[in-house]
Amino acid sequence: MVDLTEKILAEVAARRDTLVALTQDLVRIPTLNPPGERYRELVEWLGQRMEAQGWQVELIRATGAIGDSDSHPRWNLVARFAGTRPGEVVHFNGHHDVVEVGNGWTHDPFAAEIEDGRIYGRGTCDMKGGLATAIIAAEAFIAANPDFAGAIEVSATADEESGGYGGVAYLAEQGYFNPERVQHVIIPEPLNKDRICLGHRGVWWAEIETKGRIAHGSMPFLGDSAIRHMGAVLEEMERTLYPLLAQKRTDMPVVPEGAKQSTLNINSIHGGEPEPAPGFTGFPAPCVADRARIVIDRRFLIEEDIRDVKDEVKSLMERVKAERPGFEYEIRDMHEVVPSMTDEDAPVVRSTAAAIEKVLGQRPAYVVSPGTYDQKHIDRIGRLHNCIAYGPGILDLAHQPDEWIGIDDMVDSAGVMALVLAELLGR
Ligand SMILES: [Zn+2]
Repeated sequence: MVDLTEKILAEVAARRDTLVALTQDLVRIPTLNPPGERYRELVEWLGQRMEAQGWQVELIRATGAIGDSDSHPRWNLVARFAGTRPGEVVHFNGHHDVVEVGNGWTHDPFAAEIEDGRIYGRGTCDMKGGLATAIIAAEAFIAANPDFAGAIEVSATADEESGGYGGVAYLAEQGYFNPERVQHVIIPEPLNKDRICLGHRGVWWAEIETKGRIAHGSMPFLGDSAIRHMGAVLEEMERTLYPLLAQKRTDMPVVPEGAKQSTLNINSIHGGEPEPAPGFTGFPAPCVADRARIVIDRRFLIEEDIRDVKDEVKSLMERVKAERPGFEYEIRDMHEVVPSMTDEDAPVVRSTAAAIEKVLGQRPAYVVSPGTYDQKHIDRIGRLHNCIAYGPGILDLAHQPDEWIGIDDMVDSAGVMALVLAELLGR
């Protein structure tokens, strides 16, 4: 086994330039989401590149999924490399979409320039660098140990940044993550090369609306202001809900520290007249607002039940109602995901931990992500619980200007992933 470890790591090291080039090629296809640009071009290019290396490639459009349209079809790639005898299947899943560029860049976001051992560009860290790392890890393992059991799969999927419905959720519905088909899943999201991410907190998004009655702004007593009602809601949140959430602490190893408690963000607030169109120079009309809305983003812990999470908000609204004549409201569910956490003793976790010790000479840290990622679909729809996120790249750089990934980190992580394959498929 020592020999095989050395042989695998030598094959990984020999592919350093290939790994850099593959990352650069992926970054240079700007698969921006929204709206979901150039997905087909990316999966076709990657499919050809992988076929040339002996992978069996399937391109799958998530026809009819949320976000899929003829102008912006949701394309996914699933590649498979079978061993020489029966065994288990290890699947690496990386999303190929990237978020908008935003301001503040000093590098061209799609040139994938190299400077001081780093590749710069949108999607380098989150997560085309991780996807490339998994592919190169698999190819290095296969070269070092062609007589392996089971099979290796790599998927490049759409829309993780917008919920994953046209990507992993669709593939899970089609049976690609059925535990009879796949036994181990690693998602190479940028969680730092020495950390294993076991899962994520839960999320509930809802829209809350307060209602009022329109009237002339000079005689507001003839109407009923939905904005003042919403003000009372926000005040009650500050007075009772935020202190309550701050007390709820989790035993999940969530990072960063601030996310070890329940959190609530108010994503937006709208009330009264719509914002004036750009270029409009007139005054707004004097009206009492008959409608105000907020969108809330509540993140909850594995110790909490989603029904209690919703009831907290409902009873808050009822408390406000009891004190305000004419108060009427509505709560509309938008989106929810329950928390997910893989056991530290799960086979994929143990193999990855052992591989990190071999490559980096240190024990891994176990973490849980504050926000959700595609593990939710593999867990809930696929019913496959032996899944982690592990990959190179620094989490804090995701979605930032001048996003980058370190080349040494990618090579180290590729070594870890290749040794995981040796552990799970090599015998
Ligand atoms: Zn990501």
